[in-house]
Amino acid sequence: PRKYKRYGIPEEIFISELERLPEKLEAIFVTSKMTYWYHGVVKTISILKKYFPDTKIILGGTYAKLIPEHAKKFSGADIVVSDESPDNDRILSNLLNKDITIFQNIHTSEYYEIDLDLLLQVRFLPLLSTTGCPFNCSYCASRKLFPLFHSFSPGKVAEKLLQWNEKYGVRDITIFDDAFLYKTENAKKILGLLIKSGRSFRIHSPNALHPRYIDREMAELMKMAGLYTIRLGLESSDINFQKSSGGKVYNKEFLTAIKNLHKQGFKPEDIGVYIMAGLPLQKKEDVYKTIQFVIDSGAKPKVVEYSPVPGTEMFELAKKVSPFNLDEPLFHNNSILPCRWSGFTPDDLNEIKLSLRKQ
Ligand code: SF4
Repeated sequence: PRKYKRYGIPEEIFISELERLPEKLEAIFVTSKMTYWYHGVVKTISILKKYFPDTKIILGGTYAKLIPEHAKKFSGADIVVSDESPDNDRILSNLLNKDITIFQNIHTSEYYEIDLDLLLQVRFLPLLSTTGCPFNCSYCASRKLFPLFHSFSPGKVAEKLLQWNEKYGVRDITIFDDAFLYKTENAKKILGLLIKSGRSFRIHSPNALHPRYIDREMAELMKMAGLYTIRLGLESSDINFQKSSGGKVYNKEFLTAIKNLHKQGFKPEDIGVYIMAGLPLQKKEDVYKTIQFVIDSGAKPKVVEYSPVPGTEMFELAKKVSPFNLDEPLFHNNSILPCRWSGFTPDDLNEIKLSLRKQ
């Protein structure tokens, strides 16, 4: 049996950090990530409540946005912020008895404010040039998390990265956009400005890039700017799946992107391609077929397990076919293969992973 573990720093360290804070705080903003990690949120808030009984606790983040009713019921927060509506300013102003204007310009702002000084150590610089995604893939949380696609000013994004690079001496940049390449001219401008600076960067794209937008010029800019960890989103080479799940990429576009990257000198091992495993009613043969397609194209398959996301189209199907009760967020955890069935078992997944390790 697998043991259930909760992520996070040990409780003693968290408490000793809290003890360094002023005794009286007006509010504490807590963020959250995956729905299946909600126990960590509940625990965090219960500790905060103990140490700061008079402080208002405001919960936001992915879990709060995806299942706000659950968060309201179980998190213990005073307020759960589940969207980016300007109404939140009014609610927070009333709660804290002061003027709050966090949300009023959120969809028109030219730049996102992040204070890296709050971190104990800056290990990489965050690049965020857009929020949301114009696509609405049936398995993806992006549209739920950011209903409106918004672009920041590419010039300002690059300017900030260059300032941070100088201030912190850090050359690793991580792209956090869901759709960095969608506004191709903006992406090209950002990469171009980084190149023009003459500085040396290592850029990582853990959130998949859209292969469709990697034309010759984009591939060249990616190489020159220092793209180091490349991840592309393919998910499946099955054309029916590609069409029915949202049409973000088709095999032909994918192959063109790989060809363009090869021409710039990227090697197969430099180009990781995400493949989804464990989708509702997916057969293991589909995953093997996609793996072979990716290898033949000259890239490296990266198999990721499907996690059901509440509010997405696929979640309804997942609920029907999963042997687990998906009303309980713990069962959204990809590590248990939530949509396992006789056509795709945990043993099949292990076999796939082992075969990839041998490559
Ligand atoms: S294209 Fe990517 S980010 Fe956009 S909805 Fe589809 S999976 Fe999500």
